[in-house]
Amino acid sequence: MMATTPAQPDTVALFVSDLHLGPATPKTTQAFFDFLKKRAARTQRLYLLGDIFEAWAGDDDLASPWNQSVAQAIRAVAESGVQVFWISGNRDVLIGKAFAQAAGCTLLPDLCIVDLAGKRIALAHGDAECTHDSAYIAFRKKTHHPAWQKLFLALPLSLRQRIIGRLRQNSERSKQTKSHMMMDVNPTAIDAVFDSTGATVMVHGHTHQPQRHDSADGERSRYVLPDWDCETKPERGGWVALYKDGSLRRFDIQGRIVTTYPPQRFPAGTRNR
Ligand code: MN
Repeated sequence: MMATTPAQPDTVALFVSDLHLGPATPKTTQAFFDFLKKRAARTQRLYLLGDIFEAWAGDDDLASPWNQSVAQAIRAVAESGVQVFWISGNRDVLIGKAFAQAAGCTLLPDLCIVDLAGKRIALAHGDAECTHDSAYIAFRKKTHHPAWQKLFLALPLSLRQRIIGRLRQNSERSKQTKSHMMMDVNPTAIDAVFDSTGATVMVHGHTHQPQRHDSADGERSRYVLPDWDCETKPERGGWVALYKDGSLRRFDIQGRIVTTYPPQRFPAGTRNR
């Protein structure tokens, strides 16, 4: 008799980031839940590459029913047999073990190298490579430091939420004075990732500038994931898929294959990275 085990899905991995989910984005949240159910459930691995949440004040905020509902939606995918991996972004840098356990996912360090479908792939949120913005990099260094996180997480949840709200306002203001170059990745930092890891593919988000960048010799490809916003039309979002044969494809929010991207531009949305 033939084995009854279903064939492994041809989609080896899906990569998604920058949903910026919060109670104020119900349509985007629903679109993410649909993605999890219809798309992610049919892949072997799902990689969530940062800023899935617009804000995360600490794992004790899992007590909020809304946060709990997102964790449970991710967990349902994991329980269906998909391996789910998580790299935190700048917005959800305070995600910890309790969340990972609730969502059934494995936390990975920012800049993680995986060998999949014959490809060596570098995965990152993308903010660490924005080295033109030295003020941001200094802030990032602080917020990633375990001692700083420990001190911050010792504050009452409501105070942390207020501080994060104020940081978001400040960052929104300062963004208006920053050049496009400062808000994009630094090519030198990207080259360093490829050179130091031997990866030939890099997938990241953060900049909200979906694109595929190929090196002149065609040896290296960098996929920049789109951010999601389904609150207004036209809806924005999508993901990158890796197939068994090592090929990668980009999909838009409707699940259509993307073959072209508009020229480099910053989305008109007011949301910050
Ligand atoms: Mn980000």
